[in-house]
Amino acid sequence: QSPEIGSRTRTRAIMEKYGIRTKKSFGQNFLTDLNVLNNIITAADITKDDNVIEIGPGIGALTEQLAQAAGEVLALEIDSDLIPVLNEVLAPYDNVTVLNQDVLEANLLALIQEQFTDPTKPVKVVANLPYYITSPILMNLLASPVDWAAICVMMQKEVAQRLTAAPGTKQYGALTLAIEYQMDAKIAFDVSRRVFVPAPNVDSAIIVLTPRKQPLAVQPFDKQKLFGFIRGCFAHRRKSLCNNLRGVVGKQPATKDKMAAILDRLGISPQIRPERLTLDQFITLANALHAADL
Ligand code: SAM
Repeated sequence: QSPEIGSRTRTRAIMEKYGIRTKKSFGQNFLTDLNVLNNIITAADITKDDNVIEIGPGIGALTEQLAQAAGEVLALEIDSDLIPVLNEVLAPYDNVTVLNQDVLEANLLALIQEQFTDPTKPVKVVANLPYYITSPILMNLLASPVDWAAICVMMQKEVAQRLTAAPGTKQYGALTLAIEYQMDAKIAFDVSRRVFVPAPNVDSAIIVLTPRKQPLAVQPFDKQKLFGFIRGCFAHRRKSLCNNLRGVVGKQPATKDKMAAILDRLGISPQIRPERLTLDQFITLANALHAADL
C-alpha cells in the first residue's frame, strides 16, 4: 500500500480521517520518517525468522515496516481508541496481531505462547517507547522469564546515554548496571525531535540490547538484593562509596571496622565515588558484605 503509514502525508491523512488527537498522557508522538523506520528495522536485524513484539504501535507506522520484514508481529497498544484504526490500516498484513493491552500488565511469556504460530522462534522487542515509562518497561522486559533475542527501542537520548554509560561518567548508575547485568547495550543512532508528530521537546536515540556475550565474572548471592544494594550505594552520588555504604549497612562502630576490612581486602578505596565501581566490583562487594553478615 502506498504511501506507507510512516510517511507524513499518509500519517496526516489517517489522523484526519479518524479524527485522532494525540494523547500526551500516553506519550503519543508518532514517527513520520521512512528512513528512520528502515534504520530501526536494520538495527534490530529483523528477518522472516523473527517473532516481534511491538510496544505501542500508535497508528501503525513501525508496525507496517515490521510486518514486511518479520515473520509475525504482536503489537500491544494501551489506547483503545487506536485499535479500530490499527485494524483497518494494517488489514493488508495477515502476520500482525494487535491487542488492546497495557504492556506493564501483560504476561509476555504467556502472550508469546498464545499468539505466535511458532513460539520457539527468536523473539525481539521493537518499539518507539512511550517516554514517560521507558525505565519501568525495560525493567519489566528484563525481569520477565523470556530470553529476548534483541530489544531495539527508541527512547529519550539522555536515557539512552545512561543505559550505555561507562564507569566514572555522570550518566553511569543503577539503571546502567541493571541493563549490563543481562545485556550488551549500544546506541545505534540518534533521532531528531523533528521527525515526530507532534514533536517532543527532547531528542531521541535508538538503543539495541542483545544477550551478554561474556558471562558475568562473579555471580551475586541474590539478584534482587544486589540491585537493592546498588541503589543504596548510589543514594548520594556526590558522596564517597564508604559514606553511602554506611546508609546501607548501618553506622555501628563494629560494622564500620568490618566494612573497612572488606574494602581493604578487595582493594577498593573507601573514598572512591560509587560511579567508579564496575558491575563485577559491586557484585564482589555485595557478596563479601553478605558473607560477613553485614
Ligand atoms: N509506534 C508508534 C510510532 O512510532 O509512531 C507510536 C509511538 S508513541 C511514542 C508510544 C505509543 O505507546 C502510543 O501509541 C501510546 O498510546 C502507547 N502506549 C503508552 N503507554 C502504553 C502502555 N502502558 N502499554 C502499551 N502501549 C502504550
